[in-house]
Amino acid sequence: MSKILNYINGEFTPPLKNEWIDNVNPSEGRVYGQIANSTVEDIEKAYQAAKAAFSSWSATTIEERSRILLKIADLIEAHLDRLAEAESMDNGKPLSLAKSVDIPRASANFRFFGNAITQFSSDAHESVGLNTLNFTLRQPIGVVGCISPWNLPLYLFSWKVAPAIAAGNTVVAKPSEVTPMTAFLLGEILTEAGLPKGVLNIVHGTGPSAGQAIIEHPNIKAISFTGGTQTGEHIARTAAPMFKKLSLELGGKNPNIIFADCNYAQMLKTTVRSSFANQGQICLCGSRIFVEKPLYAKFKTDFIAEVQKLKVGHPMEEVNLGAVVSEAHRDKIESYIQLAQEEGGTILTGGKRVTVKGYENGYYLEPTVIEVPDAQCRVNQEEIFGPVVTLMPFETEEEVMAYANGVKYGLSATLWTSNLDRTLRLSKQLETGIVWVNTWLNRDLRTPFGGVKASGVGREGGFEALRFFTEAKNVCIKYE
Ligand code: NAD
Repeated sequence: MSKILNYINGEFTPPLKNEWIDNVNPSEGRVYGQIANSTVEDIEKAYQAAKAAFSSWSATTIEERSRILLKIADLIEAHLDRLAEAESMDNGKPLSLAKSVDIPRASANFRFFGNAITQFSSDAHESVGLNTLNFTLRQPIGVVGCISPWNLPLYLFSWKVAPAIAAGNTVVAKPSEVTPMTAFLLGEILTEAGLPKGVLNIVHGTGPSAGQAIIEHPNIKAISFTGGTQTGEHIARTAAPMFKKLSLELGGKNPNIIFADCNYAQMLKTTVRSSFANQGQICLCGSRIFVEKPLYAKFKTDFIAEVQKLKVGHPMEEVNLGAVVSEAHRDKIESYIQLAQEEGGTILTGGKRVTVKGYENGYYLEPTVIEVPDAQCRVNQEEIFGPVVTLMPFETEEEVMAYANGVKYGLSATLWTSNLDRTLRLSKQLETGIVWVNTWLNRDLRTPFGGVKASGVGREGGFEALRFFTEAKNVCIKYE
C-alpha cells in the first residue's frame, strides 16, 4: 500500500497525529493507499517552514527563481509517463488524456510562470507640475495558501503554486484528498530541481481538517482556491473578516450555443469533446447544449450517433471515457439522471452504469444526453459535473441569451456561428468570464481566466495571477 506523506520543509513527513484516510482507485473500486489526514498542527508546521523560507526566497533574484521553475517544468516532462499513470490511477481519467493534457499542462504552467516572472513589470506615474514621481512596488505577499480540486489534479495544483512561488511567496498548499498522488510525487521533483526548503509545502488531508486550518490561519494572507461553489462560499465567509486576499475559481453550468450557420463538422466533433472529456468532469465542459431550430433534428441524430461510438472502459486502455472519480460522485450523477426523468426529461442515450470486465467494482457511467423540456429545470440549472449534457432547441438570439444567462453560474460559454456581427453581439451579452467562439478549451496561458456570478471572484492566468500573488504599494517621491 502506498503512503502519501506531507512534504514540509523539503522533507516527506507523516502527519503529526498519525491519522490516515483511504486512497481509492476509482477505475477498480478499491483502496490502494493511505493519505496523511493532516490537522491544524501539520498546517502550523508547514506555515512555520514557509515563514522561515520567505525572507530568503523573496530576495532571491528573478533569474534564479525562473531557473528553478523551468527546471521543475523539465523534470515534470521527464517523468511524464510515471506522473500520467499516477494521475490516471488516482482519478480514473484515460491515461491518454493524462499524457496529452494533464501532465504536459502541469509542466507548461511551471514553464509559463518561470518565464512570465522575468517579464513582469509595474507602473510609474509622473505627476507633471507637482514634481512627484509615483511608482508601484509589487511585493510578494508572504505565506499564501493554495487549495485545489480533484478533476485536473496536478494541472490545477501547479496553476496556483507556480505563480505563487514565481512572485516570491512561500506556500502552504493542499491538493484534493480525492486525488493527492501527483502532488505527492511533485515533492521529489521540487527537491531535485533545487527549490529551497520551505518554499512550497504540500500538506494532504480533508477539507474540513487540513483545508479549514489553512483558510483560518491568521498569518496565511492570501488564499487561491479552485473547487465547488459551496466550498467557495464557506471560504469567503471565513476569510473575508480576516481581510485575506481571495481568488475563487468555482463551479460552472456552461452553455454550448449552436447556430445553424456554423461549421457543422467542426462543431459536432468539438461538441462531443466539450461534453464528455474527462468524463464531463471539467469545470469548462459545455453541459447545456442549445441548438437553433433548423438544425435541431439533424444535430440530435448525429450527436447521439457520435456519442454512442464513445468507448467507456479501464483508463489504461484505449478508451474515450474512464471512470468517474468516486462512488459518492457516481451516486450524485445518477441522482441527477433520475431527477431528469422526474422533471419530464427524455434520455436520448446513456443513463446507465457500465460494467467493465475485470473491473466490475469501478465507477463507470455511460455518456448521457438528456432532452429537457425547459431551461429552468434542476438538471439544467445545477452543476452535475459528470458525463451528462442537456439538449434544447431555440429560435432567436434573445431566447438563447435568456437561457444561457439564466443560471446562477457564469464561467464559460461556447458559441458556434460564422456570423461576425452575432459573435461580437453575443460575446458582449454572455454573462461569463470566458467565451469560446468556434472552439473549446483553447487556452493561451497569458489570458485572464475565471468566472462571474457564482463561478467565482478574481482572475488567474498571465500577469493577473502574478498581480494576485503580489501586493501593490505606491511609492510617491517629491523632487525639487
Ligand atoms: P470541493 O470544493 O469539494 O473541494 C476542493 C478543495 O477544497 C479540496 O482540496 C477540498 O479538500 C477543499 N476543501 C473542502 N472543504 C474545505 C474547507 N472547509 N476549507 C478549505 N478547503 C476545503 O470541490 P471538488 O469536488 O474537489 O471539485 C469539483 C468542483 O470544482 C466543481 O464544482 C468544479 O466546477 C470546480 N472547479 C472549478 C474550476 C474553475 O477553474 N472554476 C476548475 C476545476 C474545478
